[in-house]
Amino acid sequence: MSLIIQKFGGTSVSNSDSLKTVAKRITECKDAGNEVVVVVSAMGSSTDELIELASELSNEPSPREMDMLLSAGERITMSLLAIHLNNLGYECFSLTGSQAGIITSSRHGMAEIEEITGERVKEGIEKGKIVIVAGFQGVNKETREITTLGRGGSDATAVALAASLKADRCEIYTDVDGVYSADPRIIKEAKLIDEITYDEMLEMASSGARVLMSRSVEFGRRYNVPIIVKSTFTNNKGTIVKEKTMEEAIVRGVTHNDKETKFTLFGVPDQPGIAGKVFSPLSEGGIIVDMIVQNVSKDSKTDISFTAPSDQKEEVMKILTELSKELDAEGADSDIEIGRVSIIGAGMKAESGVASKMFSILGKNKINIGMISTSPIRISCVIPKDDMTKAIEALHQEFISK
Ligand code: ADP
Ligand code: ASP
Ligand code: MG
Repeated sequence: MSLIIQKFGGTSVSNSDSLKTVAKRITECKDAGNEVVVVVSAMGSSTDELIELASELSNEPSPREMDMLLSAGERITMSLLAIHLNNLGYECFSLTGSQAGIITSSRHGMAEIEEITGERVKEGIEKGKIVIVAGFQGVNKETREITTLGRGGSDATAVALAASLKADRCEIYTDVDGVYSADPRIIKEAKLIDEITYDEMLEMASSGARVLMSRSVEFGRRYNVPIIVKSTFTNNKGTIVKEKTMEEAIVRGVTHNDKETKFTLFGVPDQPGIAGKVFSPLSEGGIIVDMIVQNVSKDSKTDISFTAPSDQKEEVMKILTELSKELDAEGADSDIEIGRVSIIGAGMKAESGVASKMFSILGKNKINIGMISTSPIRISCVIPKDDMTKAIEALHQEFISK
């Protein structure tokens, strides 16, 4: 008997018909003799709708109340699914993240899973019941407050639960057939990837392939949980994320992210320790800083630029405006009209000339590169937002389709 975690994303549970399709997947798995724990997301785009509602009432809603609000989305799905499964004659019950013992840090909106006690989940499994857990949420022990894990966080709930229950595998069901060589909604010729390593998937997820939340891949890698990404609506075998793959690709995928903003702090006195003074308050404020560039200094002053998620723009600008006064700098600015394209592949480590080829392709297409960052298996370029689709198409054509 295997223990399988099945996670269903928003588009897989958007109405009662899709909930019935999801129930069929669950009961087939159960009827085949497996133990099943299910993790669900909020229905369709209901999380976005709740955020929109809150923004109509306040420019700065309290993070605590936002978590109370958003965690309700997953509760609706879990109980509707349990009602349907019970009606089909299956013993099944639903649990909120808190009831399932998902213990997190206290940071509202971006909490980290610290521990999963999972007692009620284990009790349910022992009694042969199907347990449904609300994704994306947990509770902090000290504050006793409900928290959420950040957008796409149900993936993290699923893989962390799989690790803690020592499940045989974690199946992530979504609206596409698996992980593709580029977003299949943008690149029609994108290829379905059969196998991908945790390292490559982590780079793809953190550079914009939203099919898996990057923290879920981190859990998978740390606890060696096989993750399978597949469609709720077709029978294709999907993509398996694991430690090693049969073949090592030089470029496995092309990703993009158009949800980042470039920030610049101008005329900062160029002294030892200045970068620490700039980035410490940003990290204390929970800002996820990505690419950083410090310009050549002129008259002992320099400009420091970095990228961060666009939805943190207001917090970043507040911190930078204060920093500018404190450090006697010459002000701060933001540019939202940027995008980031990346190429990812483990085979890049052993291949020279990949970066220069990427830059030449962008150059040939008259796309200006504003910032560059690399890891051993990824190269990313910040480019004008308007050139994003052209860049993804050109890079995919050169590195994958050729
Ligand atoms: P869910 O609601 O199931 O969690 P998401 O919307 O979070 O689904 O993720 C699935 C979406 O991710 C797909 O519809 C697809 O447009 C997008 N996506 C972006 N890059 C990729 C990629 N490389 N492979 C597959 N899907 C991708
Ligand atoms: N409902 C949450 C979101 O939309 C979590 C998830 O779908 O994974 O981000
Ligand atoms: Mg998702």
